[in-house]
Amino acid sequence: MKKIKSLFILLIITALAGGSYYYFSDTQGPQIKLTPSSGSISKKTNLGLTLNDELSSLANISVTVEQNGKLLQVLDTTYNEGIRSASENIDLSTLLLRDGNIKITATSTDRSVYHFGKGNTATATFNLILDSRPPTISALSNAHNLNFGGAGMIVYSISESVTKSGIQLGDHFFPGHKQPSGNYLCLFAFPYDTDSEAVPRLVAYDEAGNKGIGGFYYHLNKRKFKTDKIKISDGFLNIKMPQFQDQFPTAQTPLEVFLSVNKHLRTQNRAWLSSVASKTANTFTWNKSFLRQPNAATRATFGDLRHYIYNGKEIDQQTHLGIDLASTACARVPASNSGNVVYADFMGIYGQCIIIDHGLGLQTLYAHLSSMDVAVGDNIDRGQIIGRTGSTGLAGGDHLHFGVIISGVPVNPIEWWDKNWVKNNITSKLQLGNLHQ
Ligand SMILES: [Zn+2]
Repeated sequence: MKKIKSLFILLIITALAGGSYYYFSDTQGPQIKLTPSSGSISKKTNLGLTLNDELSSLANISVTVEQNGKLLQVLDTTYNEGIRSASENIDLSTLLLRDGNIKITATSTDRSVYHFGKGNTATATFNLILDSRPPTISALSNAHNLNFGGAGMIVYSISESVTKSGIQLGDHFFPGHKQPSGNYLCLFAFPYDTDSEAVPRLVAYDEAGNKGIGGFYYHLNKRKFKTDKIKISDGFLNIKMPQFQDQFPTAQTPLEVFLSVNKHLRTQNRAWLSSVASKTANTFTWNKSFLRQPNAATRATFGDLRHYIYNGKEIDQQTHLGIDLASTACARVPASNSGNVVYADFMGIYGQCIIIDHGLGLQTLYAHLSSMDVAVGDNIDRGQIIGRTGSTGLAGGDHLHFGVIISGVPVNPIEWWDKNWVKNNITSKLQLGNLHQ
């Protein structure tokens, strides 16, 4: 009898211990997160709320938005048993809210037995700024005479601080650079591959995601580029293609390698140029004219549409995006202007290639080099010898392929060798960029 009694007491103690363990097993409310959780937003911003409860399932979520003492309910949801995490979208688009401060309060309860079965409640508040006004952009420079495939400079101001601004033209974006005066300088191009009817626009995005658009006066000189026929011989293929074979292992013949290189490697090279483009100074690194390789004959010009002929048949077409200059083999290559080396390595069709940054997205490219005398990070003087010409990469003979690039887009180098063009279209606008408004 005594045994049964003590067993009974033990059972009660165990049950109590188990019960209290169960009762106290979850005393934490759900975790509440909001993205974004601070800063400026617009009514269109995707406000994502996530709920997580590690130990119990969720019971409900309630969300209110408060502005100037006015409280608006935006969400009130009950969850089915067994759900421990949930994502909700807070939609402000239909609410009557003004620009200014708002407070978002989220309250969520779980299904824990704690608090005599009422569960644990967590509350989180988030202070945000509602901003529905797009930034206003004003063009400050007047004359923008653009050549198809060439460059231009615009000076503009913006009404508020922004996260990104510049010129959008088709798929191309040219970032503007904020100057100490508060004004922006944007060097841009009318890219050779853009529809001539496309219209460049100034664009700016604020922290809330509002997009401002501004127009400006410009004149575009349309032009036709030359066409060129390039004969591809078996001798050329047999000498030049083995270096590319490992990149295109499925290509069966040197001709197939050539076609892959000409198409895919060209595209890849453009992507490389875009990634190098972001390594640019906030101001120009030069104040003298751009040099041309001395005593060199022009062998191919910018924008040439090249028809590739093999055994009398056209096998491919590509646009030439620089100027080919040939003199003696292994000729010394001077830097066209002062700047900073941002690339010095092998780059696909360009072979051994150096890219020098001159600020505001402007870069010069020197390709097919037989040797390179500079390294990434070096500051280079105008005229300094940076390497020697060669025929590395996709080059038939020893020459320098000279390119000018603006924010990853190749432009016509001819403009940059023309002192008057540079003065009238580029440097004459710098002063305007430095004026305080
Ligand atoms: Zn070339």
